[in-house]
Parts: sequence; C-alpha cells; structure tokens
Amino acid sequence: MASTQKISKNSAQNAHRHNRDLLLALSRAAQSVQRTRTEEEVYHAVDSQIKSLGGEVALFTVTEDKKTLTLVHVTYPPEDLQNIEKLIGEKALGYRLELPAGSIYARGLEGGQTQYIHWRHEDISNILPSLPHDLTGQFMHLLKIEHGIIAPLRADEETLGLMIVNGPSLAEDDVPAMESFAAQIAISLRNVRLTQQMQLELSARRQAEENLRLQSAALEAAANAIAITDKHGIIRWVNLAWVKLTGYTKEEAVGQNPRIIKSGLHTVHFYKNLWDKILAGHVWHGEMTNRRKDGSLYHEEQTITPVLDGDGNVTHFIAIKLDITRRKQAETELKRAREELEKANHELQSAFKQQQRLARTDPLTGVHNRRYLFELAVHEFDLARRYRRPLSIIMFDLDHFKQINDTFGHAMGDQMLERVAAIARSQLRDVDLIGRYGGEEFMIVLSMTEAKQAALQAERIHKEIRMLRLETEKGIASVTLSAGIAEMIHDPKDASVDDIIRRADEALYAAKRAGRNRTVIFKPQAGGTI
Ligand code: GH3
Ligand code: MG
Ligand code: MG
Repeated sequence: MASTQKISKNSAQNAHRHNRDLLLALSRAAQSVQRTRTEEEVYHAVDSQIKSLGGEVALFTVTEDKKTLTLVHVTYPPEDLQNIEKLIGEKALGYRLELPAGSIYARGLEGGQTQYIHWRHEDISNILPSLPHDLTGQFMHLLKIEHGIIAPLRADEETLGLMIVNGPSLAEDDVPAMESFAAQIAISLRNVRLTQQMQLELSARRQAEENLRLQSAALEAAANAIAITDKHGIIRWVNLAWVKLTGYTKEEAVGQNPRIIKSGLHTVHFYKNLWDKILAGHVWHGEMTNRRKDGSLYHEEQTITPVLDGDGNVTHFIAIKLDITRRKQAETELKRAREELEKANHELQSAFKQQQRLARTDPLTGVHNRRYLFELAVHEFDLARRYRRPLSIIMFDLDHFKQINDTFGHAMGDQMLERVAAIARSQLRDVDLIGRYGGEEFMIVLSMTEAKQAALQAERIHKEIRMLRLETEKGIASVTLSAGIAEMIHDPKDASVDDIIRRADEALYAAKRAGRNRTVIFKPQAGGTI
C-alpha cells in the first residue's frame, strides 16, 4: 500500500513536473509565435518548443470549403520523413488529404474541440487510402503514433487548420494547454496572413496611384489638346494644350458643355451623327471647326473615345484634338493657287488658240489664209502621193471685181467677199479645205477627189454664187466667178503641190479668157486646157 502510495506520489510529482514543463514550453512558444512575420516563422516557433518536450507536431491548413487538409509542417527528422515518403509513395509536405466524413480529422474541425486520442489503425487508413492495410502499423511505428492531441487552429470562430501533437509524454490533462496554444497559433497565422494581404493591397494601391499619377502627368503634358467629359458631355477635365488651343482656362471649362467652343458651322446632322456613334460605344474620328474664346475659328482633327465601365456602359468620353488650322490654311491656299494657276493656264490656252486661229485665218472671210492653206495643202499632197490617192485643186477668181468695187464701193466689195467665202465653204465636206489665195481669189483642196468630181463641186458653187443678191443703195449687186481645176498626176509624179496649183491657175486663166463665169479643167494630154 505504502509502495503504491509512493508510486502514486511519484507519478503525481512527475505529472506535476511535466505539466509545468509543458506550460513553460508552450508559453515560450506562444511568445515567439507572437513575434512571427510569416507563416513559415509561425511553424518554426511551434516546432522548436514542442520538440523540447519530446513531442512531434504536424500542422495542416484547411481549404476554405473545409474539405481538404494540406500538410504544411512536421517536426519529424528528415530520415523518418523519407521512410514515410517511401511507404506512401508521395511527398509528405504538401500532402493533401480529403477529409473523410466522420473521421477524427473531420470531427476535430467540425466540433472545434481539442481532443486527446488513442490512434487506431483505421484512423490512419482513413487519410491514406493508398496505403496497404498491413502497412499502417509500420507507418504508426515509424512516426511513433500512439496517442496524441488533435487541436483545431481556430481564431474568432474561423478554422484555419489542424495541429496534431504526438508524443509519449502527452497526457489527457495537457488538452487545455494545447487548446490555448492552438488558439495562439491560429491568431498568429491569421495576423500574419492579414498583414501580408494588407501589404499586397497597399503595394497594389501604391502602384495604381503611381500609374495614375504618371498617366495624368502624361495627359497633362501631351501636345494634343485633351478633354474628358462625363456621359452627359459636361467637361470634367482638360489639359494645358486644350487651354492653349481654345483660350479658355481650366476653371472656365470644367463643368461646361463643349458647346462653348461650337463654331456654328456644322449641321445638326453632323452632331447627331457624332453622338449616335459615341453613345453606342464607338470611336468617332473626324475634322471639326470650333471657336476660341476670342471668337476666332480653328480647325481640329478629333478622336472621341467612349470610356466604358465593367458592364459596357458609357461613363465618360475622351476627346483628343489636333490643331489643323495651319494645315487647313495651307490646303486652302494651295487650292486657291491651283485654281488660279488653272485659270491662268486656261486663259493662256484659249489666247494661244485664238492666236493660232488668227494666224491661220483670213480676217475678212474667216476661211484659212494663204500661208496656212498652203501648209495644209502640202500635207494633203504628201498623203495622196504616199497612197496614190486622187487630189484635186480648184482655184477661183471673181469676175470683174474691180467694177463691183467701183460701182458699189469697197465696203460692199468686202461684204461680197465674205458672202462668197461663206457660200463656197457651205458647199464643201468637212475634210475639204478652202482658203483665200489672194485679193478675190480662193483655192479649194479636195482630197480623194478626181477632177471630174471637183468640176461638179465647182458647178454647185457657181450656181449658188450666181444666185447671190446683195441689196445696196445703188441697186442689187451680184457676181460670177471663173474657176480652174487641176488634178494630181501620179505618172510622172508631181514634184510638189505647187505643180497642181500652177495647172489649176492655168485653167483659171483659160476660163477667164474663154469669157469668164465658167469652169475649166486642166487636161494634161491636151498639153493645156480645153
Ligand atoms: P477679172 O475678171 O479679170 O478677174 O477682173 P477683175 O476686175 O476681178 O480683176 P482682178 O482680179 O485683177 O482685180 C482684183 C480686184 O479686186 C482689185 C481690187 O480692187 C479688188 N480687191 C482685191 N482685194 C480686195 C478686197 O479685199 N476688198 C475689196 N473690196 N476689193 C478687193
Ligand atoms: Mg477677178
Ligand atoms: Mg483676182
């Protein structure tokens, strides 16, 4: 009995010492846990103190849905861990275990109670379904799992994880001390996490503020004028370039509608178009004329970009403007200069044409003058010779024109000449050429025409001229003409158009000699005219 009493007295003393050691160790651990800055530091603070008690700790964190535990820290020596890893075929740290409903682990989390437990084989197979049943004993032996304390890491009703402490010296009496230690760990873990999150958010906010500062500095310093309006079009912000462009100060602009710079030069339709586009969330780009504060106009090239919120609703508009007044001015000047140049060129051209026409035309009758007609005749002669085509020339001279002048006056003679030229011309094809060869002598060049056909042509002219009647103060004036016709000779070749002209002239004089008012064709075989 005495010895029993002694034994029990001894064991009571041992228990008392153990309890004191545990409390001391836990209080030291709690102190160092409080000073931790990272989760890792929390684990290590737990580690060293529990180890000094001869126990081993496993720390798990839990996912938010409370379905999975992840092993984040163990105090077992590395060689023990390696053996375990060989046994389960997986890495120990980071091992995730699904929480089997009703298992010790699940109960520990759900109830929030710290429990003293005697480990059973099934507790192990529960969390290691891949471990063959006959190996659970080996597993427990390696980790010296017999009994231990399982404590949820709870802080303010929130479960952050699970602590499992194993060790031969642990007793059921240690549960309250372990429970408060677990709470201490949980609070430290939560604090560490909160601090880290706060730091992250703080640095993100600093970064955002820095970005904002940089962006607004860039906008402010931009060479382009920029205005930001709200969705109703009220100006909320403008940059310095905008102030410079419009002449309004920032204070005058902010709170105003951009109408203050409206020029009144654009149609209602123009603005409707613009608003339809940007309100629909599209970018508008175009040119616009606006008015400065001092009333002067300027041209700008503008891009208006709608700013959308997360739901795609327009909240603001950013208008970026480029002053194109000088470009516009240059464009207008260029256009005016070009128009003037074109006009001058046009005038020059028509003057040149007029000049050319004058140089080629006989001023009294409007038909070709002698020089130009001769030029054209040479060209026709060349063509006819090259293609062996017929070519005829009619020379005609008015009969007794001196008398007409004498009777009716020189002015009437001029009129008569005009009318004769007009009549003769009206009888010709477009391709035929007529010109004034001398005072009252005309020459007609008929391409692709033989002498016989030319004679018919001459006859028509004769007839028309004979019918011409000019009323004058001294009675009716009329006139006849004499004509000579010659055709181009291909064998032997005529040397030049002069040859034909000369023969036509000969025929004309033959007509005069024969009594005038007639046509004579030059007949080469006859050696002259008939
Ligand atoms: P002929 O029948 O032989 O030809 O007699 P003609 O009087 O017509 O004689 P000729 O052809 O030699 O005389 C030409 C006259 O035509 C001389 C001139 O008075 C007149 N004449 C020449 N050129 C002009 C002109 O431009 N205007 C006018 N009114 N008369 C002109
Ligand atoms: Mg005459
Ligand atoms: Mg004459």
